[in-house]
Amino acid sequence: MKKENSNTKMKKVFPFGEDLGGAKILIIGAGLCGSLLALRLAQRGYQIELREERSDLRKTDISAGKSINLAFSDRGIKALKMAGVVDKVFPLCIPMTGRMIHSIESETFLSPYSARDGEYINSVSRGQLNGLLLDEVEKFDNVNLQFNCGCTSVDLENNTATFFDKNYNQEEMVTADVIFGADGAGSILRKEMFLQREILFSYSQQFLEHGYKELSIPPTESGGFKTYKNALHIWPRGEYMLIALPNLDGSFTVTLFLPHNNSVYSFSELNTDEKVSNFFQKQFPDALELMPNLIDEFQNNPVGNLGTIKCSPWSYKGKTLLIGDAAHAVVPFYGQGMNASFEDVFVLDKFIDRHEGDWSKIFDEYEKERKRDADAIGDLAVENFYEMRDHVSNPIFKKKREIEIEFEKRFSYYSKYSMVTFREDMGYDEAMRIGNAQDKTLLNLIANNKLEGLEIEELFELVKKGVSEILDDDKVSKMMQH
Ligand SMILES: Cc1cc2nc3c(=O)[nH]c(=O)nc-3n(C[C@H](O)[C@H](O)[C@H](O)COP(=O)(O)OP(=O)(O)OC[C@H]3O[C@@H](n4cnc5c(N)ncnc54)[C@H](O)[C@@H]3O)c2cc1C
Repeated sequence: MKKENSNTKMKKVFPFGEDLGGAKILIIGAGLCGSLLALRLAQRGYQIELREERSDLRKTDISAGKSINLAFSDRGIKALKMAGVVDKVFPLCIPMTGRMIHSIESETFLSPYSARDGEYINSVSRGQLNGLLLDEVEKFDNVNLQFNCGCTSVDLENNTATFFDKNYNQEEMVTADVIFGADGAGSILRKEMFLQREILFSYSQQFLEHGYKELSIPPTESGGFKTYKNALHIWPRGEYMLIALPNLDGSFTVTLFLPHNNSVYSFSELNTDEKVSNFFQKQFPDALELMPNLIDEFQNNPVGNLGTIKCSPWSYKGKTLLIGDAAHAVVPFYGQGMNASFEDVFVLDKFIDRHEGDWSKIFDEYEKERKRDADAIGDLAVENFYEMRDHVSNPIFKKKREIEIEFEKRFSYYSKYSMVTFREDMGYDEAMRIGNAQDKTLLNLIANNKLEGLEIEELFELVKKGVSEILDDDKVSKMMQH
């Protein structure tokens, strides 16, 4: 228990209101995952205490958060559909049907994400989406939502969390039947589990050498888009990369990925206006023309880190569960972190349906199913970093995409990207295994000039055969490991 000090008072709180008989649930973090989780559990009738460290993003100046947008796709859509709110989200979205690749010579080509109608991703503002979920949560009387309340520690044995409430400058304790840590990559709950020796907690955190900085392309004077609206724009340049996603107000949020250090072009090297300007002039000349505020934004916006977090177990004695980024933070290169966090809620809900009331069973079965998928999206996201920055403009990769698009038009074929992004009925792990086998087979055929004279049907049969051989091999080697 925290000691009182001269400036802060400790208050023991029983914030759940009238006892309605159901389990009392505390959710730490009202970000994307915590808000959806609160909404779903409130719909199920639980008494929810939802506590967020930051102030209410709907009431503060949202200009800072407004520009930050995310790619929202089928796994996230599935979860928001379950909670009955997806139709309210679509009006906030801008469809992106493919990647618009910008070469260093300022030439562009659009590489579609899929050949099937309706398979596209959406650009959505993080602030607007989070705000919408909070509005929905607040409609429930069985939810108590508090902002400016950061969790400072969790007593795992007694299921009590301590918060510092900035509204009253005092510490508070909340005791609950179940505590969810939806408090993101820096999770307090995860730290507590790490420190509890009895748990034998496994934990890994791997940073990329690259960081990121957010910049922008403003709208035209009449509020239009300065470049093609319905695409995720990419300027792939090997060691570094620029991407841009559209916003409803006609602007684009631009993200620069660059090594932190040890490179001619790195965040530490680009330390004068002149260097920044020369770098963009040389590497991203067409983007530079659209970015009148580049220097200001570059100097003022922070550099973020990019890392993958894996850990296990995610739960303790059926009393606590890590969920979303708190359990599995991933780098952003598959556009899946939020989608995976929303899908967590969907999968958890399935096990609540099966074993309602038995939290130990719910959490064990949930982790058993979800962990391998979370690990897979962590790995896929790192792989996609290399694909996006190096390969998308490489001729072999381009040929592979052309063939895959042809396959998708004619046959029941899903590229790895399509399986990860649009096959919400398939786990990430399965999508990764099949997708990697497809990629390996196709890339080998292209690199070894085995395509000449083949009809598309023959090529498809060859790929199917190659994929099933690889998957059979994998099965055998898995059996030998066990
Ligand atoms: C640059 C970048 C681009 C991205 N692009 C995409 C994308 O295109 N598509 C996609 O699907 N994902 C994307 N992601 C990933 C996505 O942002 C995360 O996966 C998602 O936000 C996870 O949601 P969460 O609710 O688990 O965590 P968070 O969004 O981090 O929310 C955690 C919440 O908990 C609160 N909190 C933290 N500590 C405490 C505490 N001690 N007490 C109380 N509250 C606390 C935080 O204030 C926050 O509100 C991107 C990430 C980055 C960094």
